[in-house]
Amino acid sequence: MIEVSKKCIGCSKCVPVCPFAAINMIDRKAVMNEACTLCGACVQVCPVQAITITREEGASRDLSGYKGVWVYVELSETGDKTHPKKIKQVTFELLSAGRRLADELGEELCAVLMTDKDQNYAKELGAYGADKVYMVEHDELFEYNTDIFSTVMVSLVTRHKPSVILYGATIQGRDLAPRVASTLYVGLTADCTALAIKDGLLLQSRPAFGGNIMADILAPNSRPQMATVRPNVMKMGEPVHGRSPLVVRESAKLDRSLRRVKVLERKIAHDAAAVKIENANIIVSGGRGMKTKDKFKQLEELSKLLGGVVGASRAAVDLGFKEKTHQVGQSGTTVSPKLYLSFGISGAVQHIVGMKASDVIIAVNKDPNAPIFNVAKYGIVGDAHEIVPKLTEALKKLKK
Ligand SMILES: Cc1cc2nc3c(=O)[nH]c(=O)nc-3n(C[C@H](O)[C@H](O)[C@H](O)COP(=O)(O)OP(=O)(O)OC[C@H]3O[C@@H](n4cnc5c(N)ncnc54)[C@H](O)[C@@H]3O)c2cc1C
Repeated sequence: MIEVSKKCIGCSKCVPVCPFAAINMIDRKAVMNEACTLCGACVQVCPVQAITITREEGASRDLSGYKGVWVYVELSETGDKTHPKKIKQVTFELLSAGRRLADELGEELCAVLMTDKDQNYAKELGAYGADKVYMVEHDELFEYNTDIFSTVMVSLVTRHKPSVILYGATIQGRDLAPRVASTLYVGLTADCTALAIKDGLLLQSRPAFGGNIMADILAPNSRPQMATVRPNVMKMGEPVHGRSPLVVRESAKLDRSLRRVKVLERKIAHDAAAVKIENANIIVSGGRGMKTKDKFKQLEELSKLLGGVVGASRAAVDLGFKEKTHQVGQSGTTVSPKLYLSFGISGAVQHIVGMKASDVIIAVNKDPNAPIFNVAKYGIVGDAHEIVPKLTEALKKLKK
């Protein structure tokens, strides 16, 4: 229920921001009509906090009308209106996971795309399993903005009532999903590492207590059930080209005044590795066992010869051997390269969760009981300081 209290001063600020034209000014007071979806856009802009939304308690709500699995489509941020944006890989990973969930529920898999310019995105989204694409095209969607994107998302959810929504645990997804969750008054599980269906509900699993236990989370009393998943956690399925999803074009009435944050300048940090580590095919990682920053540098040469990127454990980062942007693991980046080489890393659970999805793991550690060997396909018990130079020399010879 939405209510306007006596505090309303009749300033009309709420009228243009309502995406549904649901507010009229009557006798210098805001009055909501039946088009109101409780999206909360007016609450955000009211300067005197005169508008309040009261939501029904979860347990007493009828949730049977909520159907379908949605995936929020994330586009690359170019900051340049003329440069076409690409769909980020995490979207395809989530669609692949979402397909499995939707099949199990016997419901539709839908992609939600907000953009200023459609670049024929539906084809690609269909190839990764989307049955339907909700497409909102509007000039105000030229770059990600919390207020604008969350308002559109909330209005779509209110209109179509999905049962599940998945977002990438990226800078954008981590900003958008909590805003949507708090506006809709629903739960959100961050950084899920596994998703399944249990008794018709979304079973959301994520590490808890520093990664020492896995928590299984269900949200039986609210809809949509929402989760974020980091890039590289879900395996991306093979695309099936030629599948055409149904494209549902949605209109959005977006007013500039909704945008409370303005981007004045955009500076791209040119640390190439920071960008590359999550997409690298080969990662050569080092831990505390590399002992010094100089010895750690040997990994750079080896990685260059293999055409890879250097990764590091948190201990190595804390010791200053490598920048934080190279850290692999729970509080670093989750990676899934074709080849992961680990030197002097013990294999703490917080490291393992960030690299166990790698296709082939080769570990070098002088302790035969190091837990890293539990996930490694090939293990070498030995001294990294002897093995790294030998490998480097051998590769150099091969390249000659
Ligand atoms: C909330 C939380 C989040 C965390 N997030 C992360 C994270 O994102 N990433 C991460 O990595 N850690 C993370 N950690 C830290 C994690 O628990 C470990 O402390 C860390 O991974 C240990 O790094 P390491 O394996 O390099 O060091 P150590 O555990 O000290 O292991 C060093 C290893 O090197 C071996 N060794 C020593 N000398 C040699 C040699 N000459 N040749 C070969 N092997 C040698 C030793 O046998 C040992 O196994 C987190 C911890 C917490 C509590």
